Amino acid sequence: MRTAIIIGAGISGLTAAVYLQRSGIQTLVLEKAAGPGGVSTSWKRKGYTFEGGIHWLIGAKKEIPLHQVWLETGALQENNPVHFKDPIYTLVDEKGTMPMFRDLHGLEITGFRDRLALWRLRFHLACFKHFHQPIGDLRGLKVRYPKSFSVWEYVKMLSAVLVTPFLMAQSARAYAGWFKNPRIRALLAAVVEPDINALSFIYTLGTFNVGDSGYPKGGSLHMAQNMASTFLNCGGIIRYQTPAEKIFLEGKQWSVRTKNEVLTADVVIVSADARSAIDTLFEEPLQDGWAKKMRSGLRTTQCMFLGVGVRADLSSWPRSMQIVLPRQLKAAGRTYKTIVVNNYVTEEGYAPEGCSVITCLLHGPTYAYWKSAKEDGSYAAKKNKVMADFIEAISEMIPEIKNAVAVTDMATPLTYERYCSTFEGSYMTDWPPFRRLYHAPVRYREGLYFTGQRTAYSGGLPPAAQSGRTTAQTVCKDLGEEFVGA
Ligand SMILES: Cc1cc2nc3c(=O)[nH]c(=O)nc-3n(C[C@H](O)[C@H](O)[C@H](O)COP(=O)(O)OP(=O)(O)OC[C@H]3O[C@@H](n4cnc5c(N)ncnc54)[C@H](O)[C@@H]3O)c2cc1C
Repeated sequence: MRTAIIIGAGISGLTAAVYLQRSGIQTLVLEKAAGPGGVSTSWKRKGYTFEGGIHWLIGAKKEIPLHQVWLETGALQENNPVHFKDPIYTLVDEKGTMPMFRDLHGLEITGFRDRLALWRLRFHLACFKHFHQPIGDLRGLKVRYPKSFSVWEYVKMLSAVLVTPFLMAQSARAYAGWFKNPRIRALLAAVVEPDINALSFIYTLGTFNVGDSGYPKGGSLHMAQNMASTFLNCGGIIRYQTPAEKIFLEGKQWSVRTKNEVLTADVVIVSADARSAIDTLFEEPLQDGWAKKMRSGLRTTQCMFLGVGVRADLSSWPRSMQIVLPRQLKAAGRTYKTIVVNNYVTEEGYAPEGCSVITCLLHGPTYAYWKSAKEDGSYAAKKNKVMADFIEAISEMIPEIKNAVAVTDMATPLTYERYCSTFEGSYMTDWPPFRRLYHAPVRYREGLYFTGQRTAYSGGLPPAAQSGRTTAQTVCKDLGEEFVGA
């Protein structure tokens, strides 16, 4: 029997693992953390669950091609049905609230310019109506249950392709700037980080618009656990708290050194962050052209995560809020006037009876700030200050929170770096207008492969899953094995 070692039990590693094991390749997953999911995870503190990963899952709707991958890998099962929230976001400011529904109703459109901007937005969403990541099979691969993406499916995507250069050339913020109403601009800024390109904005909003993108019951951890148990049920092995220290070539075989042993297999797959791996996982940092380009050109998406357990019922507040703060919130040398706050009051078991839990991501490159705070010993104090300021700011808009804080938790990019070894503690590749993305190759050398979000387009869980499947197919093809998807 052929063998594989996968480094990392994030979504990409687990996807590759399920497919390889099902295809008859005995697969061992080494994971440095204590559980599955990588950066897509959630955790409990004092009876409150903090969702630190999925806000929306693309491919949740069964008609979307990616949905098949979520089903085949066991990510979505009967035990975690998806809830498709609507409105998708609600603006909360001193004037009151303004919802944005999936079909865009709810937006307060007044005046010609806003009507024109809305027309343009609807036009671009219509162009993306049939745009989906194709899930097909590699040419020349033996496949038990073939999947194909027909020429007609590609033809239907042409309208999206035609408007792509226009969208790529501007930021989401500039795109939203067509609206005169500042409240609409503020609300649209909730969809994606405003400084990334407008293509990502339209694509993401488009997934909501076609009825996709939802939140699976139990969130990130439950979904990752589903995938891990699917893999184990196929006969795979996962070793948690077992970091790979180095990958090296022994004779003709790639080997992985952990703290206690050296493991060899027919193939080794790196699903740990490729940008970190090129500098840390090999005996010498990789010096191939693509690795040098990644080193010099790749920009990362970083965030600070804030979670608050509240001894109060927040069910009168919307699920996902874009809050315009009365005063700017200062955190890690950055200022925030609008913040997205998720309210999990409706999620079963996330908080004790009558209580609620909220989370917020503050985006921006703060890795260097926190690194120097760690070095000068002010890290904990600075974190406490950010959390205290956040609670004060949010309490001005949601007064129920003020004297009802039961528990707080905060992650900085250093937290993600410590737990998941991601480069600069990031969770995605940043994709501003006019910038190229720098990918790691799927097949690096004979027997050595990469997978994960840094081998694909920028975008979170879909590229993670899709790359896991592509890497598994590439391995099967190279080993002459039949790929068994379902
Ligand atoms: C707060 C937050 C919110 C997000 N929201 C969304 C969302 O709503 N929708 C969406 O699509 N995406 C979202 N994402 C992004 C998405 O979760 C990630 O892009 C995706 O999970 C990346 O998966 P991956 O498998 O490529 O990488 P990772 O998750 O980084 O997996 C790599 C794994 O390798 C392990 N590892 C690293 N080094 C080693 C080693 N030496 N030995 C052993 N194991 C190692 C790590 O511990 C990790 O488990 C979010 C991410 C965050 C952090």
